[in-house]
Amino acid sequence: MLILVSNDDGIHSEGLRLLGESLRSLGEVFIVAPDRERSAVGHSLTLDMPLRVKQVGDHLFAVNGTPTDCIALGVLGILKSKPGLVVSGINIGQNLGDDITYSGTVSAAMEAALLRIPSFAVSLVANGDYRFEAAAQFSRHLAQIIMKRPLPPDTLLNVNVPNLSPSDIKGVAITSLGRRHYSETVIVEKTDPRGKAYYWIGGGDYKWEYKEGTDIEAINKNMISVTPLHLDLTDYKLAEKMKRWSIGFNPTER
Ligand code: MN
Repeated sequence: MLILVSNDDGIHSEGLRLLGESLRSLGEVFIVAPDRERSAVGHSLTLDMPLRVKQVGDHLFAVNGTPTDCIALGVLGILKSKPGLVVSGINIGQNLGDDITYSGTVSAAMEAALLRIPSFAVSLVANGDYRFEAAAQFSRHLAQIIMKRPLPPDTLLNVNVPNLSPSDIKGVAITSLGRRHYSETVIVEKTDPRGKAYYWIGGGDYKWEYKEGTDIEAINKNMISVTPLHLDLTDYKLAEKMKRWSIGFNPTER
């Protein structure tokens, strides 16, 4: 079986290399990844410049694009046939709750799901002293499970692994996405040497909303979190309510 591996931290990331190694015994692993870090680019596709693919090793390709570009190019161009599995990671840093809407790591797995290929994203919940071993081992284990028990169409899995040695992990929880609350403003304004204002996004403190069964709760309990995601973002309950709002449109002449 062909397995396609990508990430958003770039081709030189240790997490990417270890993920590829851990999956190697399960099939023929191809790595197609951005040529530099592209974290938080979300699901963006490059349409305004030519994409270049550079083979940088055996089964190893660097692309001057986004994680989504890498999956599209990998599946539709570089690989000889459609892969049976796509895995994105191991991301250096969490992709919990709201994070997934920005995440290039998760978007790569989403792109695979759009192409009807089983996929998951895997992230290490850490800010330093990275321990990839548990995430790499679990990725291999989960890949084997998915091969035996295929995911339904339009779904993918988002996996977060605590930064602990494998023996300190307390188990696996199937979770829902948590929500974060920013306690302060997340826009930091500074002044540059020429007296002009500039801004940083994301400098504020945040707290996680406490809710049972979420990915953040699992991580707090030193468990691996596995969240099944669906590509259909429709809110069906709200759609039913809105049908009774009788939102009409009466065009007026100008
Ligand atoms: Mn990243």
